[in-house]
Amino acid sequence: MHINHIGIPSDHPRAKSIYIREMLVNGFRRGLVVPEGLIAHGRGEAYDYLIGERTTKTAQRAIEAAAAMMLLSNRPVISVNGNTAALCPNTVVELAKVTGAAIEVNIFYRTEEREKAIKAELELHGAKKVLGVGSQASARIPQLQSERRRVDPDGIYAADTVLVPLEDGDRTEALTKMNKTVITIDLNPLSRTSRAANITIVDNVVRAMPILVESTRKLRSTLSLKKITDNFDNSKNLHESLKIIKGEVQ
Ligand code: ATP
Ligand code: MG
Repeated sequence: MHINHIGIPSDHPRAKSIYIREMLVNGFRRGLVVPEGLIAHGRGEAYDYLIGERTTKTAQRAIEAAAAMMLLSNRPVISVNGNTAALCPNTVVELAKVTGAAIEVNIFYRTEEREKAIKAELELHGAKKVLGVGSQASARIPQLQSERRRVDPDGIYAADTVLVPLEDGDRTEALTKMNKTVITIDLNPLSRTSRAANITIVDNVVRAMPILVESTRKLRSTLSLKKITDNFDNSKNLHESLKIIKGEVQ
């Protein structure tokens, strides 16, 4: 039996789930994640349980649409919060490289110290440039009150498409009002984020991100990207995820 470095036996039925928790706790200890982020993960976990802790065919369709949309965009940006930085810094950087997207730190509980810690984590995984830190985040999203309204004028503010994994509903709505195409990764198909986004990937960010990177690599030379995005219907896709949760379809 293989026991990994944090002492979880690989044949433990909840090994993957426990391992993801440990990544977050580790991120918390290193100043990337806030306690509230750990609780938000708990809400995600509950939905993950209900979809069977796998990437469903429905999620795969959303991933393909997201990949096509990122490739079609002129100024795509990946918005990174603490949980995302703790869970998948490597695939954030890979996705930025494949799609030419910018990376911007955007956190709900904003301190410059945490912004810098997230930036450093991304750089450690190969990011060349990380936007949105400190006074760089000098533009504002209209109508938002929280500190998350602060964005980088060269990043989210000027973007045509924003990938916002684990986003808050208010900000998703505000970004769509600014006419940005919003792609999210959210395990809860009922959240305001999921419903307000243009493309919602109902999957764990840990599983979805590597598949999204792979999908953009595959689609890079495709001419019919627009056909893929046009054929995608987000509310229909969310409805399918709910059916999976209710056990009506696989
Ligand atoms: P909303 O603000 O969109 O209505 P919310 O207030 O219920 O949603 P937030 O705390 O704002 O939730 O955002 C956290 C969201 O991220 C939750 O919907 C949760 O399901 C989701 N989530 C948490 N961890 C993960 C993960 N690892 N992968 C994917 N989604 C996750
Ligand atoms: Mg919220």
